[in-house]
Amino acid sequence: MKRNVSLEEISDGRLYSRNDMVRADCGGCKGCSDCCHGMGESVILDPYDAWRLSGGLGVPFAALLEQKLELHVVDGIILPNLKMDPKTDACGFLNEEGRCSIHGFRPGVCRLFPLGRYYSEEAGKKEFHYFLQIHECPMPNKTKVKVNRWVDTPDLARYETYVTRWHYFLDAVEKKLPGMEEEQARNANLLILKLFFLKEYEPEDFYGQFETRMQIAEEAFE
Ligand code: SF4
Ligand code: SF4
Repeated sequence: MKRNVSLEEISDGRLYSRNDMVRADCGGCKGCSDCCHGMGESVILDPYDAWRLSGGLGVPFAALLEQKLELHVVDGIILPNLKMDPKTDACGFLNEEGRCSIHGFRPGVCRLFPLGRYYSEEAGKKEFHYFLQIHECPMPNKTKVKVNRWVDTPDLARYETYVTRWHYFLDAVEKKLPGMEEEQARNANLLILKLFFLKEYEPEDFYGQFETRMQIAEEAFE
């Protein structure tokens, strides 16, 4: 989800890379679960999240969409997000102790928090950096931690390449959608949903499977 705010307003003004130290460590959160409440539709999932969640829970992604996830239109594209419980306004994966019940395979946005991603494209080079959101997490006296350790994702360099690819793919689709007929746009959305989320993934080699699917999608959107 793109946000039209200036980086100065919401961050400490710095951009970070995976080997930088950042003051983001909340020390185990100490009973706080603020960022697992009231998130609306903002915790959007990507295909890696779909693979990690359905593999971790042993449940097809389509079944998760009937329970703890939902679909929303984000910048013109239908994407899944974590669903907040209508009564408690808490994420459906938050347990009674106020802890994440899927910590080992929680989505990328949850792994980052309170970091965010800042995408940029210069001289044809597409990439993103991390930034520290200063108004989102109330825990005082956060300590410094290496970004790589905080994000807690295997082979982070490869993951970052994938995240960038996915972001700019969605960006390209978003730009094409206004020029499409209604039915064409609906079919485009269905293709993305089925190809990257509903079609089940094998447990091994997510990135290889993603690349194959991306080639199909890129041909379809040529
Ligand atoms: S708001 Fe900060 S301290 Fe509270 S659960 Fe989220 S990351 Fe932890
Ligand atoms: S998946 Fe876990 S960390 Fe993320 S919002 Fe839900 S309970 Fe919180």
